Amino acid sequence: MIRPILIHPDPRLKKLCEPVAEISADMGKLAEDMLQTMYDAPGIGLAAPQIGVTKRLIVMDCVKGEDQAPRPIAMFNPVITWSSEELSTYEEGCLSIPDQYAEVQRPAEVRVTWTGLDGKSHEEQFAGLWATCVQHEIDHLNGKLFIDYLGPLKRQMITRKMEKLKRERARQG
Ligand SMILES: [Zn+2]
Repeated sequence: MIRPILIHPDPRLKKLCEPVAEISADMGKLAEDMLQTMYDAPGIGLAAPQIGVTKRLIVMDCVKGEDQAPRPIAMFNPVITWSSEELSTYEEGCLSIPDQYAEVQRPAEVRVTWTGLDGKSHEEQFAGLWATCVQHEIDHLNGKLFIDYLGPLKRQMITRKMEKLKRERARQG
């Protein structure tokens, strides 16, 4: 089921999300809905608070090109256990901040542990776009958006555009 994606500013996007205690069937269904919503958007990552669920769950698939097999990943309670000193800069966007992009500098590589849909613990080192995406999504679980890395003027400008977009959408019903 495709879920509506919240648009910034929204108080649910600023919350510290709660850990997922048990990978129940409901949690599995939620992860499936999130992947479907992400692919439909289309996007390469989505965090549960973006559909109004303030739980520590993210989904990603950063495989590029239609000739390559997709690699959907669902992470419950993801934790960054190591970050490289080396940094990299990507032009980031966000499904909750449509059509706005800005360069953000983050560690180029990170190691992440998480609980998978199988209920087991996983660990993997990510680089490139995957590393940026996983950090962006984990930020969402802590109520942080990529625009929080920008200067206050740029951030306010984007926020005002989003407020306008939301007013227009509300008017269209
Ligand atoms: Zn985002």
